[in-house]
Amino acid sequence: MAISKIGVVGAGTMGNGITQAFAVAGLDVVMMDIGDAQVQRGFDTIAVSLDRLIKREKMNADQRAAALAHVSTATSVAALADCDLVIEAATENLQLKLKVFADLDAALNPSAILASNTSSISITKLAAATKRPGQVIGMHFFNPVPMMALVELIRGLQTTDETYAAVEAVSKLIGKTPVQVKNSPGFVVNRMLCPMINEAIFALGEGLATAAEIDEAMKLGCNHPIGPLALCDLIGLDVELAVMQVLFEGFKDPKYRPAPLLVEMVEAGYLGRKTGRGFFDYDSK
Ligand code: NAD
Repeated sequence: MAISKIGVVGAGTMGNGITQAFAVAGLDVVMMDIGDAQVQRGFDTIAVSLDRLIKREKMNADQRAAALAHVSTATSVAALADCDLVIEAATENLQLKLKVFADLDAALNPSAILASNTSSISITKLAAATKRPGQVIGMHFFNPVPMMALVELIRGLQTTDETYAAVEAVSKLIGKTPVQVKNSPGFVVNRMLCPMINEAIFALGEGLATAAEIDEAMKLGCNHPIGPLALCDLIGLDVELAVMQVLFEGFKDPKYRPAPLLVEMVEAGYLGRKTGRGFFDYDSK
């Protein structure tokens, strides 16, 4: 099926990024959140992000205006009724997402596709909460969405080939590179990235080297653009811990156990850049 109108549930970090990516590609998007303040914040974030693209001469004022004209906002799922594809990017909470999926299932045309941007929740489980499990799929974008090329397309056990083909086509249309992934804890990227970061935290906890030395070693020795501990500060230590817990519980394999130092730092509220302190100090910057 052809996808021309998109709905996005959640106007936060990922939701407004996803909305921007589709709007810039010329598709109409309805961005929905729980209240006016949340959708306004999401819309303003898109406007500022487009301003930055103009400053960098990657976009002109007409293109900015055209992109913003493709975005409308809403505070109820009823406003998404005529969307062909709705991408859920709400808070990472199973009960919340199950409710959103049930509400979307009731509100949308029977032909519409439901996608989730979840980092860790089973697509098969979300699909089972709907009467259209074959039309449910994971679309896992990366942060910041307008800049990052990859989208992992996660097939639940029930996802049909037709659903996959339609979502693959629209992903390419907005300039993303889709990679097909089976429904499994952490999918592909987080399955590998998060254990690597966790191992760096083990190394730090064991006193193998300082945080700065560990990051320098991985940048110079592996050509990584950013060290694992600085990356963890960017992602959020709470998010890293949540993904490790999903991997640990999902596979029941001790190799995924979260590093004790990670657990302790989250307990202390040292969550990385967003709290001004993680493995590095950001307060003075
Ligand atoms: P966020 O906290 O920035 O935004 C979540 C938004 O969802 C908030 O604006 C909140 O008001 C809204 N929301 C909550 N309940 C809602 C409901 N019932 N209906 C509509 N909106 C609702 O979170 P985020 O970082 O954008 O993450 C969103 C999703 O994307 C999560 O599933 C997360 O795992 C996933 N994800 C995040 C990242 C990342 O780097 N932040 C990367 C990939 C995937």
